[in-house]
Amino acid sequence: MAPRTMKAAAAYRFGEPLRIEEVPVPAPARGEVLVKILYSGVCHTDVHAVDGDWPVKPQPPFIPGHEGVGVVAALGEGVEHLKLGDPVGIAWLHDACGHCEYCISGWETLCETQHDSGYSVNGSFAEYAIGNAAYVARLPHDVDYAAMAPILCAGVTTYKGIRETEARPGEWIAISGIGGLGHLAVQYAAAMGLQVVAVDVAEEKLALARQLGAAATVDARDPQAVQHVLDATHGGAHGVLVTAVSPPAFSQALNFIRRRGTMALVGLPPGDFATPIFDVVLKRLTIRGSIVGTRKDLAEAVDFAARGKVKATIERRPLEAVNDVLQGLREGHIQGRVVLDIGKA
Ligand code: NAD
Ligand code: ZN
Ligand code: ZN
Repeated sequence: MAPRTMKAAAAYRFGEPLRIEEVPVPAPARGEVLVKILYSGVCHTDVHAVDGDWPVKPQPPFIPGHEGVGVVAALGEGVEHLKLGDPVGIAWLHDACGHCEYCISGWETLCETQHDSGYSVNGSFAEYAIGNAAYVARLPHDVDYAAMAPILCAGVTTYKGIRETEARPGEWIAISGIGGLGHLAVQYAAAMGLQVVAVDVAEEKLALARQLGAAATVDARDPQAVQHVLDATHGGAHGVLVTAVSPPAFSQALNFIRRRGTMALVGLPPGDFATPIFDVVLKRLTIRGSIVGTRKDLAEAVDFAARGKVKATIERRPLEAVNDVLQGLREGHIQGRVVLDIGKA
């Protein structure tokens, strides 16, 4: 039996610290489950949510968090494929309509009436959260759940984004931004047989990338950065994945692409970047957005982690430290991912 109240971190006004408070434990409606949260990763998207950075804003008060790992604590009516105690994950895609052209073609991440955890519905910075039974991630029983939390967003997003570059085994991928997303991207790319050149503005992040399998690293601040990437990749990367939280990183990364290559945009800093028409046309470049991943992508991303092919580099902090962690992300100081240690199984 779940208690009646729970500890949660809630956003009341954009740009202000989250308030840690006692709130009622929600009840699962038909098709939903109540999840007792054990761990939640803190994604840079949570910063964008809390700061109200994006054109479409969440409605305060709300509880952020979309890398929640937990166990099913109560079942809503009609839920038959999950049982109490099952390990599940609360990911960004909370639910989608299931019948629009995107949903029926296996692109539920593009559904126009989707709900997103920690944004349009309450998320995982709390002792309990609601998941939709048809959309929660199914997790294996015998894994490191703290290290699994970042897979629910950072993992699936980069796994999908790498595939969206269409780079093939043996080819080069340039990954710009080696934070929570990027440090997992390096590992997924290596596990998929790609050669990786990692780009960031912080030496300790580049060192982590080398440790995790990057064949080459380049400091984005180096005036010769583009040339270094072209040299390392013998003429340009077949695929480029941009996770950096900085519009200039997108302009720079365009120059990393080899002719006929594809750049997948994943980072979401507010703003724009200029596209040189001549280069895009003559080099036949593809510039493509990529948003999280479908339930199938998520299952595959989880499987890589369960088999030990990728493992998030994490630091555990209590829920009470969440505002510090958000500030660390704003300042670019977080190495790998911080995972909030919220509950016990
Ligand atoms: P993070 O803060 O952990 O990492 C960002 C990294 O970018 C840091 O390592 C930072 O040093 C680096 N960086 C900053 N400026 C740079 C530059 N000029 N060149 C290269 N690197 C630079 O953030 P995160 O959690 O990895 O999230 C990254 C971005 O991805 C955020 O904007 C987030 O909202 C977005 N995101 C998108 C999706 C999606 O589905 N498209 C999913 C999750 C997160
Ligand atoms: Zn995220
Ligand atoms: Zn839909």
